[in-house]
Amino acid sequence: MVDIKYIGHSAFQITNGDKAVLVDPWVDKNKSYDWKKEPITDILLTHAHGDHLGNTVDIAKSKDITVTAVAELASYLAKDGVKTKSIGLGSWINYSWGRAVFVPAFHSSSLPDGTYGGVAAGIIFDIDGVRIYHAGDTCLTGEMKTIKELYAPQVALLPIGGNYTMDVEHAAMAAKWLGVRTVIPMHYGTFTEIQADLQRFAQLVAFGNTACQIVNPVSDESNAKK
Ligand SMILES: [Zn+2]
Repeated sequence: MVDIKYIGHSAFQITNGDKAVLVDPWVDKNKSYDWKKEPITDILLTHAHGDHLGNTVDIAKSKDITVTAVAELASYLAKDGVKTKSIGLGSWINYSWGRAVFVPAFHSSSLPDGTYGGVAAGIIFDIDGVRIYHAGDTCLTGEMKTIKELYAPQVALLPIGGNYTMDVEHAAMAAKWLGVRTVIPMHYGTFTEIQADLQRFAQLVAFGNTACQIVNPVSDESNAKK
């Protein structure tokens, strides 16, 4: 069984049996999540900004696990002594828990010290037939129609907070274009400028994609099971 745990902001743990992958692990704000006890085998990063890089270095070094990221971000982390897998967008990469492909996101990507972090990405996961799209930070983009055609994800993790990314209106359009059955909203509420109206989001999603269910991790204890 594939288990998707929302940790907060854009951080998710996706578990398959006794293995788990952590995405954008800014996790120290969630006191109920203890990464030391989790069976994490990989960390995947969508881009280099601090709210996505988060606790990557501590977790990766402590657990001796590999971080997959676009080349510039991977080489920055490697200089810090982190084990890395350097990739670009566009091809499946195999892991012990499944496979993943990095796809375009329209966003910037620089390290906290200003170093260029390469292109920003979203990530498609294919884990035992469950396809999950983590959009990273992005605006609404026609690429999402291509993502549906190429990968047909069932679940989308979409930023809805606006200001830096899609807002609820554009995220609802993304849910429609992607044709997903489940949406988990992310990247909202954590900064003053990225507040979002979840009720409005639910109305807009229901209007555009009647088969789509929103899993609100705030009321569903940060868990969605597929
Ligand atoms: Zn962000």
